[in-house]
Amino acid sequence: MLPLSSSDVNLNKNIRHQFPALQQRINGQPLAYLDSAATSQKPAPVLAAIQHFYRRDNANVHRAGYTIAARATEQFEQARAKVAGYFGMSARNLVWTRGCTEAINFVAYSWALQQLNAGDLLVVSGLEHHANLIPWQQVCRARNAELAIIPVLATGELDQQAFQQLLQRRPKLVALTHVSNVLGTVNPVANMIALAHQYDAKVLIDGAQAAAHLTVDVAELGADFYTFSGHKMYGPTGIGGVLLSNDMLNQCQPWQTGGEMVEAVSYDTASWAQPPHCFEAGTPNIAGAIGLASAVAFLEQLPEDWQQQEAALLAYAQQRLAAIDGIRLIAAPAEQVAVQSFVSDRIHPQDLAQYLDQFGVAVRLGKHCAHPLLAALGEPVTLRLSLGCYSNQQDIDQLIAAIDAAHQGDT
Ligand code: PLP
Repeated sequence: MLPLSSSDVNLNKNIRHQFPALQQRINGQPLAYLDSAATSQKPAPVLAAIQHFYRRDNANVHRAGYTIAARATEQFEQARAKVAGYFGMSARNLVWTRGCTEAINFVAYSWALQQLNAGDLLVVSGLEHHANLIPWQQVCRARNAELAIIPVLATGELDQQAFQQLLQRRPKLVALTHVSNVLGTVNPVANMIALAHQYDAKVLIDGAQAAAHLTVDVAELGADFYTFSGHKMYGPTGIGGVLLSNDMLNQCQPWQTGGEMVEAVSYDTASWAQPPHCFEAGTPNIAGAIGLASAVAFLEQLPEDWQQQEAALLAYAQQRLAAIDGIRLIAAPAEQVAVQSFVSDRIHPQDLAQYLDQFGVAVRLGKHCAHPLLAALGEPVTLRLSLGCYSNQQDIDQLIAAIDAAHQGDT
């Protein structure tokens, strides 16, 4: 399959030209944007949808009955149905948040804090982003509950035997990433959810790195909670959400209170609106939701084989990197998407990242908000390339040429 064929490259060109930010040059070179795991670029239809809303339909939602307010409310709720549908769920089962971090915090404070008691067990994996670790540390501290970690093997995969042993201790919740933001590992979440349910544990899946690369049907997966960020799936920043099963929707308690989320209010008391609205206090990110619905429409019209294209490009990148003397790829999970961490044994990662920027190549350097995972891997920091549907062979060739030049400069 390597290198990609010219028809593949043309197909990719049709996608790429829809992203205005990718048309620019950086330091005289075309921008090779290889940091989509941090945030994806935005296609023109998403930018247009946001602008259209602000130019024509800007009004607050669920309040006034005048024409543009009705339009705003209709588009906002249509966006909820569109995005929920993309994940195989109904509108009612989607609670909007600012992003994945807030979605996980919502579950921690609206559900876990109510449900956990002293001595209860909560399980997370060793692959987690801090967003899916620290809220659970906080909840466990508040409830005197215990937090246990599923260890990571040298391949970058989770130790499934250790997971099964932890399940015997009957955790209340398993919180687990679908795809690792550091290693690209795709966890076998369908199996892990089914297993956890056999032990009556609820399962939260952090889908931040999965939503833009895999087809995700939350109902089919059977996740109790599935969280995501719009900006990592070609939508705007400041919007994301959690998809919840009906049971979990009924168990959650409002975590923030104020306007929008109430049915009736007196000086003594207040009653809540129906879910999901009772979990969305205050004016929501209306334009963000509409922009995200447009991003979902964009994802839905990508060529049928775009996921295979991304997989082929990742394999190409791995092959080219592995062929460079002094470059070490970090871990090698059997199932991996869109992300590859690496280090140079010849140049400090910070110097290499700066060098790459001079060549117009944008990659992430650091601990990737996963300090415990980096410590377990024995790496102080790594460089990380990550792909989007617009990434192409030229991006990778530019990266490789820049690393070669940096290594040569170093000798
Ligand atoms: N979970 C994972 C796996 C991530 O990669 C990220 C962000 O990089 C998050 C959660 C947090 O997402 P956000 O910062 O959009 O809330």
